[in-house]
Amino acid sequence: SSSQEPLPIHRLHQSLINRIAAGEIIHRPVSALKELLENCLDARATSIKITAKDGGMKLLQIQDNGCGIRRNDLPILAERFTTSKISSFSDLSRITTYGFRGEALASISHIAHLSVVTKTRSDAHAWKACYLDGVLVPSKQGQTPDPKPCAGVDGTIITIEDMFYNTPIRLSALRSPSEEYAKILDVVTKYAVHNPTISFLCKKAGSPSPEISTSPVSDVHQAIRSLYGHAIAKELLHVDVTSEQFNDGIDDPEKWSAEVYCTNANYQAKKMVFLLFINHRLVESSPLKRAIESVYSGFLPKGTFPFVYSSIEMDPRSVDVNVHPTKREVLFLNEEAIIERISDAIQQNVVGKSQSRVFEYQT
Ligand code: ADP
Ligand code: MG
Repeated sequence: SSSQEPLPIHRLHQSLINRIAAGEIIHRPVSALKELLENCLDARATSIKITAKDGGMKLLQIQDNGCGIRRNDLPILAERFTTSKISSFSDLSRITTYGFRGEALASISHIAHLSVVTKTRSDAHAWKACYLDGVLVPSKQGQTPDPKPCAGVDGTIITIEDMFYNTPIRLSALRSPSEEYAKILDVVTKYAVHNPTISFLCKKAGSPSPEISTSPVSDVHQAIRSLYGHAIAKELLHVDVTSEQFNDGIDDPEKWSAEVYCTNANYQAKKMVFLLFINHRLVESSPLKRAIESVYSGFLPKGTFPFVYSSIEMDPRSVDVNVHPTKREVLFLNEEAIIERISDAIQQNVVGKSQSRVFEYQT
């Protein structure tokens, strides 16, 4: 037959469709970690403990002390589009949780072995459930798939094992376990800065000493000190920025505010450290990063960079944050104006501090 001849179209098996879809949401251990972390925060946890083996590829476990999951919800927990966070379309416009799509646990169950131990405050004991391809499976051969009572404390432990065991191409695209672990540490560190009243712990399985361990009674400044070090913390400026017109009491979608912690001209690093949260979500904005970089290029020696943590809050209607879980780059309304005001505020503060320093030295 000639090469012009079309091949017949046929339906893919559902299991293949699910695996492909899951691979688009969960790229690597850190994408699963971010989803699980956000679930812990949605569950109002005050303590989050992460354990990883082989950079999370062999094992990724997160324990939280949040609200737990009701036993009766366990059968559909890992089904696609099951969530406790929204129930109607209008809920979407006032969403206050990270999750709402009900896809994370389902996706994970298609590319790894997923198990859950959970206990609500009113449960007398915990429940354990195991999942594969969206449904409950027995944890041991010969058992029934339904959740089993077990010992456990209030909250939830999610365990993911052998990530991408069934998608070898994805597995081979991953870098070394140490690089995957570095990405996990980076995300946990950033969330720990943004949530200084939550205690975070992150360690390798079997290791007695965690790489990250924060105490819950701290503020952003203390969190930056303990996570990024004294050299940064001692040169940190705190800058508050708000939108120009503040129509108090009026529901103004153009209203926004930003809290920035950035280093002064005394701090000079080889690489820029840039943490950006918009409405509490970890995102990226290349235009904002570039604008801040160019402010600092006026103060810092060539090839040196600042540390900048920025938390922006705006009307949820003005921002398209992370609507798709893999989309980290964010788009928001009035982007240019907001970027300009934040850059100006940083500029003025860094100038101000440098001048007061010169003044101090002169007197
Ligand atoms: P989503 O977060 O979008 O709702 P997920 O697949 O991440 O979807 O989670 C599905 C549901 O499982 C959540 O809506 C929540 O009810 C429950 N859940 C997941 N993780 C936790 C947790 N750590 N603590 C309590 N409930 C959880
Ligand atoms: Mg979620």
